[in-house]
Amino acid sequence: MQILNILTISALLLESCNSLRAMSDLYRNSEIYDILQKAKSGEDLDMKETEILFRTKEIQLLGYMADNVRKEVSGNNVSYISNLILNYTNTCIVKCKFCAFYRKVGSSEGYLLDKEMIGRRAERAWRELGVTQILIQGGVNPNLPIEYYEGAFLEIKARTKGVAIHGLSTSEIEYISKKERMSIKEVLERLQKAGLDSVPGAGGEILVDSVRKKLGRNLSLTDGWLNVMEEAHKLGIRTSSTMVYGHIETPEDKAKHLILIRDLQKKTGGFMAFIPWNMEIENTEMFKEGLVTRRAGGVELLRSVAVARLVFQHSIKNIQTGWLTNGIPLAQLALTYGANDWGGTIFEEEVIPATGKEVGNLQAQTIVESVNAMGRPVVERDNFYSIIRNFN
Ligand code: SF4
Repeated sequence: MQILNILTISALLLESCNSLRAMSDLYRNSEIYDILQKAKSGEDLDMKETEILFRTKEIQLLGYMADNVRKEVSGNNVSYISNLILNYTNTCIVKCKFCAFYRKVGSSEGYLLDKEMIGRRAERAWRELGVTQILIQGGVNPNLPIEYYEGAFLEIKARTKGVAIHGLSTSEIEYISKKERMSIKEVLERLQKAGLDSVPGAGGEILVDSVRKKLGRNLSLTDGWLNVMEEAHKLGIRTSSTMVYGHIETPEDKAKHLILIRDLQKKTGGFMAFIPWNMEIENTEMFKEGLVTRRAGGVELLRSVAVARLVFQHSIKNIQTGWLTNGIPLAQLALTYGANDWGGTIFEEEVIPATGKEVGNLQAQTIVESVNAMGRPVVERDNFYSIIRNFN
């Protein structure tokens, strides 16, 4: 038996030596060798180098290098958060062409949750599912004064204990500021006082104005997103950053997007994580107009995760798998391409299903099993990426 074990281990070692040798040959002969060497040494990649990584066909090598950086920056743990996504309204005046969720003002399909309903849903998720974060987001509804948001946040805090509010997109915050004739800083201060703990990266899409205008995001351009994020960071409100790919963006646009986020992070240090999403095309105006014809696949996700890891290095330590739009199998693979955070559990999410794509609910147990199957340890984290439960 012992001899058999030794033989098996030797065979495995030989196989892994061979694959390591193959990988190192691949690495030395690679067209992106110099860029990867630069990233390996911890130097910042510039715009052109980032663009080349978004174009290269050497995806596996990209993933291998990104995974090494992930080990150094974030270690082996894979984190997740017990989360409730609460979409309080679908009425929106921004009308993004890539969004299937919104309804125009006055639409019979429009809805709005009052603070009672919001509080009840939050309390139920806290009591029955043990959520530690409420991700509250909706359309840019012109009928809502700042008091609506304050009331909703106070209600969540009153009905739950230790639950963080990860709330609103930059578009909602910019609109409240315009409607109430307040500065972004004043709006954020009021919301923070009512219980806002952190701000999601939503609204980032691609931080290039020519792309944003084509996406129908005229009301919220690049400077607007960066400004809300910077003001939040200055007030000590930490945020996430995101990227929505798989529409009309080019590799150059994605490179600009990552570099802008990294530049702001160097200034403020307020981003906790980066989350890449692919656009879900069904039922969107862009799909109907033929501006997008194909949904981005797995390669685009893995590339986005890997390039982000190599660009952000130590500046943004948490990179998410993008499981919500890509499903569990690809999320597992993303863990070997530089991702270290699964994201959150899901319960009654409404934005993605508006495209016709089934998301279902995702329980913590499924995340733990999916991560363990990849041979990685799992931890539950809080809103600020601190470990609150260790499954190992
Ligand atoms: S993505 Fe957000 S801001 Fe854009 S239309 Fe949809 S709900 Fe409105």
